Amino acid sequence: MPEFYEQSTDSLLRALQAGELTSRTLTAACLARIDQLNPKLNAFVSVNADAALAGADAVDAKRAAGQSIGMLQGLPVGIKDNMCQAGVSTTCGSRMLDNYRPPYDAHVVERLDAEDGVVVGKLNMDEFAMGSSTETSASGPTRNPWDTDHSPGGSSGGAAAAVAAGLVPLALGSDTGGSIRQPASFCGVVGMKPTYGRVSRYGLVAFASSLEQIGPFARDVHGAALLLQVISGHDQRDTTSVDSEVPDYSVQHSQSLAGLRIGIVDQHYGEGLDDEVEASVRHAIAGLESAGATVSTVELPHAKYSVATYYLIAPSEASSNLARYDGIHYGHRTENFDSKNDGLVDLYCRSRGEGFGAEVKRRIMLGTYALSAGYYDAYYLKALKVRRRIRQDFDKAFADVDVIAGPVAPTSAFRIGEKMNDPLAMYLSDIYTISANLAGIPGISVPCGLTSAGLPIGLQLQAPAFSEMKLLQAAAMAESAREAIGACPVS
Ligand code: GLN
Repeated sequence: MPEFYEQSTDSLLRALQAGELTSRTLTAACLARIDQLNPKLNAFVSVNADAALAGADAVDAKRAAGQSIGMLQGLPVGIKDNMCQAGVSTTCGSRMLDNYRPPYDAHVVERLDAEDGVVVGKLNMDEFAMGSSTETSASGPTRNPWDTDHSPGGSSGGAAAAVAAGLVPLALGSDTGGSIRQPASFCGVVGMKPTYGRVSRYGLVAFASSLEQIGPFARDVHGAALLLQVISGHDQRDTTSVDSEVPDYSVQHSQSLAGLRIGIVDQHYGEGLDDEVEASVRHAIAGLESAGATVSTVELPHAKYSVATYYLIAPSEASSNLARYDGIHYGHRTENFDSKNDGLVDLYCRSRGEGFGAEVKRRIMLGTYALSAGYYDAYYLKALKVRRRIRQDFDKAFADVDVIAGPVAPTSAFRIGEKMNDPLAMYLSDIYTISANLAGIPGISVPCGLTSAGLPIGLQLQAPAFSEMKLLQAAAMAESAREAIGACPVS
């Protein structure tokens, strides 16, 4: 019998359902693997073993009593450390929140509980989800399980690394500009950013509210579809959550893609794209074509402005969202304060100066500048106009094709430290993912190959808003290339 971390989501679910495997056994096996590998990977920032085992026992007891069991059947799940879980430390990768224990559960955590998922712990991330490498975390970098000198990507690097290394079968991340898809690609797992509005962000610590979504990580498309099913749906506590029916994402994927129209974009294959990544992505698309899809070229003429647009809109929203962390309303308060001689502004400045790391400060400054009187029209407002153009490009392209396929990131995982002193190079690693956030459409990353150095490569598929089902079908077909990748070699 293969180890649990080598099994597909489907085989784990069937074993749980049949009573051949208990949630306790599986959860204990995950906890043991976390003990063994987390010191090397730093994927989890906190693990709640007692609560996880108690949760697993509760699911097993329900099964023993013949009660109906939720969709997750007692599967262990990790969650990115920007999602609130009542009473559990939620740091968001920041010193600013090192003492924060939220008094409530995020919507997605409620959904995991309701469907009998077992939350085992919180996963490392770039500070406030700002980054593409998980190196800006106050808890130190996460390492890529395929090669620990390399970054797992980011900002949900802990989630991608944990799933790739088999610490947990499923994890939740958040994606504001690529933070699920890029680390999924770097770590050889499946990661999906749902349509804006598909999943409630109630209880997600806000970074850039008009862009971000919570989404699933799994080792296979089936796992990602299942977790998407669990977390999707309307929630009045997030006013951007859309009140439309959630389709059954877990349906069997068909064996043919006949009739599916795939678009490819010439600009995806330009400057900066690694040759091995290009070859692997083209090969994967050819595979979809032989499965019955038709492939044609579409234009996204404004996509080249997406990084510039994002780095005006996201920091602007961040500067506003992060204003609440002043050491009084929320967050770290400096101890270097003398109430006789210092004023309120000193308290704010020192608390924020100590609590935030360099990248977060850079974003707050960029955003404050872009929103300031005199520059608002030239920067923020202009960026909103370009954002609309980018969205219109997708609308036009999706009149002719069902899905757009291309690379997730221009390269495979880069080395830890390689881009830390060059923010622009770091920002460019999201060049293919950011436009989906600006347009609000869903995107999925599915493994499609390995570089000669043995690092994973991802294929990105994007579709019109609320067409997750099409993405999952095409991704399931592309997944057959997974065989070539083999298991993650970490030990
Ligand atoms: N890497 C991008 C950034 O730094 C996207 C992050 C994300 O999706 N949370 O903002």
